[in-house]
Amino acid sequence: MKKNQSTPSNKHDVRTGLLALREQTPALKNIFDAFGPIAMAQEDGCKLIEKWNNFTIPEADALRFEQGVPLFSDMDMPNFEDYYADVFWATSVAVAEGMPALAERVSMIRADLQGRADMNELAKAVWEEDNEIIESVAKKSNLDGSVLLMLASLAIKPFMTRLKDEAIAKIEKMQWSKGYCPICGSFPDIALLKKQLTENAEYMAGHGGQRWMHCSCCDHQWRIKRNICPWCESEDYSKLRYLQSDERKTERVDICDNCKHYFVTIDTRELSEMPDARIAPLGLVYLDIKAQEENFTPMAQTPWNVL
Ligand SMILES: [Zn+2]
Ligand SMILES: [Zn+2]
Repeated sequence: MKKNQSTPSNKHDVRTGLLALREQTPALKNIFDAFGPIAMAQEDGCKLIEKWNNFTIPEADALRFEQGVPLFSDMDMPNFEDYYADVFWATSVAVAEGMPALAERVSMIRADLQGRADMNELAKAVWEEDNEIIESVAKKSNLDGSVLLMLASLAIKPFMTRLKDEAIAKIEKMQWSKGYCPICGSFPDIALLKKQLTENAEYMAGHGGQRWMHCSCCDHQWRIKRNICPWCESEDYSKLRYLQSDERKTERVDICDNCKHYFVTIDTRELSEMPDARIAPLGLVYLDIKAQEENFTPMAQTPWNVL
């Protein structure tokens, strides 16, 4: 069991980080061109909503929380005011820019929703994981439901990041051992192995290094045991393996033969700089391909791992 300390935030902005990654891995140029604009729009979205403060973070019930109930599980969606629509429009521009094949479907969605009074209904559907609402909005106007869901989900992420920043203080003294996010309950899109930072004897033993999971939704990072599947919690070492390429030994995809899920990992212990977890998964898409070729499913669906 471990504390929910978060780690220092990233030194660079997303734009700078993307350019550096693109230079390091020219073979993945297409990936950065397609999804980089989305990552930048998410960061811009966080700035766009800086003044938004129409929310109250719930108090954590230590008992429930430590049994694995995320902090936001009973929270009603806060009022996103007009900010949600602002982020939605900006995100849709980025998606169309990165993925020209979707541009026409995105512009149909934009045209249909422009006059819509309550864009926050879409946010609520995402918050409550009620895909039927999204589907019915799409059906009514003959829009692409999966693109609409992608846009609506991406547009809520800056709000989740903002809420997460405020929520960390509520849980920092509590224990969390689950593979999903202690704050919003989403599964991770990447794990980072980090150097041992504590004197905690439990973790000094064994292979060294701490495993930190990065939330695919709210950007929170939390620490979990290294020898457990974050999805099914299997600790059967014969079922937990990883795949990697010979050229890139600090990168790997962890797979579980018990539940057939996977997540990508960067071993940062020998790296001079900590990767930016918001964009690092883009550089690991070749591992998503490897895992999906062997019929494993990602723990968190992202725009870039729906192959
Ligand atoms: Zn989260
Ligand atoms: Zn598993």
